[in-house]
Amino acid sequence: MNIHEYQAKEQLAKYGIGIPAGHAALTVDEAVEAAEKLPGPLYVVKAQIHAGGRGKGKFKELGPDASGGVRLSKSVDAVRDNATEMLGNTLVTIQTGDEGKQVNRLYVTDGVDIAEEYYLSMLVDRATGRIAMIVSTEGGMDIEDVAHNTPEKIKTITIDPAQGFMPHHGRSMAFALGLSGDLNKQAQKLGKQLYTAFTDMDCEMLEINPLVETKDAQLLVLDTKMSFDGNALMRHPNLMELRDVTEEDPAEVEASKYDLAYIKLDGNIGCMVNGAGLAMATMDIIKLNGAFPANFLDVGGGATTEKVTAAFKIILADPAVEGILVNIFGGIMKCDIIAEGIVTAAKEVDLSVPLVVRLEGTNVAKGKEILANSGLPIVSADDLGDAAKKIVAQVKDAA
Ligand code: GDP
Ligand code: MG
Repeated sequence: MNIHEYQAKEQLAKYGIGIPAGHAALTVDEAVEAAEKLPGPLYVVKAQIHAGGRGKGKFKELGPDASGGVRLSKSVDAVRDNATEMLGNTLVTIQTGDEGKQVNRLYVTDGVDIAEEYYLSMLVDRATGRIAMIVSTEGGMDIEDVAHNTPEKIKTITIDPAQGFMPHHGRSMAFALGLSGDLNKQAQKLGKQLYTAFTDMDCEMLEINPLVETKDAQLLVLDTKMSFDGNALMRHPNLMELRDVTEEDPAEVEASKYDLAYIKLDGNIGCMVNGAGLAMATMDIIKLNGAFPANFLDVGGGATTEKVTAAFKIILADPAVEGILVNIFGGIMKCDIIAEGIVTAAKEVDLSVPLVVRLEGTNVAKGKEILANSGLPIVSADDLGDAAKKIVAQVKDAA
């Protein structure tokens, strides 16, 4: 789960980490009020969307010459003008895709006099089984470019979670940032605070770009992105409240209500499968047959009629779907129960596209009989290869 910049900064501030003062705003009036609470004379109006690259982004409605999603504003009136231009408009950045994201929230912050910009991020590194802290002196720019052009400018410090963040980790990090004196001390302290915040909140990723050194020699988190391990969220009801579903794909939000693992893709063949591995194999074999999956969907082990119906509705709500392939292995679930679920669901949603079903496992004969006697135009398949061929052929014929 991702959260907004202002929410992430509020969390970091609880750990004593330095952030510029600021307030979130949903309307132009709130943005003006926010600015009036800040010392000025420089303010920054920042679009709050779940995507980076806002500064260099462009608003769809405003043309190529307008400023992006992070705007330095030299007066409260400028804050008002910028807020008016940004709210409700669509910001396109390298991370949003061409469709962009509508800006519904702003963050108005105290403008900082920047001396240096650094990069720092943390993530759970599955390869080492440790937490990686990645730092670079090249902050404020796309870290992917730094990694490509000057990889020697990126340093990784790995921290064993059993040991925790030790003073030597802090020293390595501050040294890698090229800091000395008091700034070096500040960096070491920051490293420890960030590590505590990261592990306390069960973060998956925490990126600070840029971490800045101000002209009066303070380290401040100027921009941050934070995401949490979804499996650990039940331990953090306060963080769960920060979820902004308007930032997520509506179909994925709907799917999460039914505990369905759904990810929208670009193809035209909807897939309903039990088990993530089988779902991946199903997508592969659709591609092998020259078509593309419209989604990844794992209905899980205990697929009830309710779940199957919800899954059908979600798949069919995607206008790109021209056929559905159901591939279920009845291990824990019995095939006849699944077949009944499919028939009920198909009737309820008034199925309008070809449906190929491959069932295998316990009570498979009974399951196929239920499908055959349903009176619905369901095509049964014998194995995965057969199923993929049939759905691709059906969709081609219908076109
Ligand atoms: P991003 O484009 O989504 O990564 O948004 P950032 O918050 O990182 O802002 C982009 C850039 O705007 C930063 O790298 C800074 O150069 C600049 N910027 C943001 N806030 C301030 C500020 O308070 N003062 C100054 N001088 N520049 C800022
Ligand atoms: Mg940034």
